[in-house]
Amino acid sequence: GAWLGVLGGGQLGRMFCQAAQALGYRVAVLDPAQTCPAGMVADEHIRAAYDDPAALDRLAQRCAAVTTEFENVPADSLRRLARTRIAAPAGEAVAVAQDRLAEKSYIQAAGVPVAAHAAIGSAADLDACPDTLFPGILKTARFGYDGKGQARVASRDEARQAFGALHGAPCILEALQPLDYEISVVVARDLHGRSVSYPPSRNVHRDGILALSVADGSVPDGIAGQARGHALSLADHLDYHGVLCVEFFVLRDGRVLANEMAPRPHNSGHYTQDGCLVSQFEQQARVMAGLPLGGTEMLRPAAMLNLLGDLWFDAQGRPREPDWAGVLAVPGTRLHLYGKSEARRARKMGHVNILGADAAQLHARIARVSAVLGLSDA
Ligand code: ATP
Ligand code: MG
Ligand code: MG
Repeated sequence: GAWLGVLGGGQLGRMFCQAAQALGYRVAVLDPAQTCPAGMVADEHIRAAYDDPAALDRLAQRCAAVTTEFENVPADSLRRLARTRIAAPAGEAVAVAQDRLAEKSYIQAAGVPVAAHAAIGSAADLDACPDTLFPGILKTARFGYDGKGQARVASRDEARQAFGALHGAPCILEALQPLDYEISVVVARDLHGRSVSYPPSRNVHRDGILALSVADGSVPDGIAGQARGHALSLADHLDYHGVLCVEFFVLRDGRVLANEMAPRPHNSGHYTQDGCLVSQFEQQARVMAGLPLGGTEMLRPAAMLNLLGDLWFDAQGRPREPDWAGVLAVPGTRLHLYGKSEARRARKMGHVNILGADAAQLHARIARVSAVLGLSDA
């Protein structure tokens, strides 16, 4: 049988492996860890650094196509793989997503609106940027996630302090936007340039980490249509191959701005595993295998509730196992655990997908699952 490969052994790689295996493929994972969520389910786990030439060549020898599950994979590794095999996405697309400045320019070049911003490479750039960027958010251009490496700044003085605290790492300063809510759209684009998009999900964060993502059909059609159109334009503009997620801000005046993108399946798209005909992970495998893209239509209103490591500790900090039977006793629920051996507080350990016959039933079930888990305000 044919093999598909993935760089990275986290939960996204694991769910990719499972989807590819369900289509009859064998999968190889490259990840330096001794054990990892994807390595546990893969047909082969190559333990080596992501830029190890011998390991990359072995992966290329094995696999018809290779993908990535995290954006900070060395772009050169994808370029090396692409010399002999299909690499989807390409190193170039991943490189754009690794740098917020390149990302913002690319998004704008695709004709998609973004927040007003400026590149901040030095204190002088902060002196020179317009007043209209305050209040703003200063973000490191690279390696930020879950709200890490960013600071809200009310004034130019606060921005100077925050820039200093980031030790002068290259940054972007964005004007703070009046958000109504946040959504994301997952698209899949195949090797011939055909593409599909999923209905947007609404994202709710807690402590900077995605807590809940809801696809209940409540995003107005005009806004959902704009966001899906923008995400597809972006994928076309990048000549993207694979699964791409684009996060959007919906402003109080109804405007839709793109915030950032992820060159891979995304946490906010996990609802597609149970809420849609074909999941984001299966689309990733289909693109790599040269198979037709699948239907993105929703079967039911759906939501994804993240299970962070906090749930594995009681109020006294003693380890415990969450009440899975209680969760699964709520109708319409499906549990996805990532097989991580050790729970740490903010670590993503799994998620629960929740379906309802309509939005009201879905929200009632989200509340019930949250209550079982002791999450009061989800
Ligand atoms: P992720 O975990 O989604 O990758 P991240 O660390 O890359 O997060 P962003 O998504 O850019 O960072 O920002 C984190 C959150 O901060 C956003 O979800 C949004 O709530 C808020 N935020 C970011 N930029 C702005 C902005 N320009 N105006 C208002 N709020 C913002
Ligand atoms: Mg991000
Ligand atoms: Mg984000």
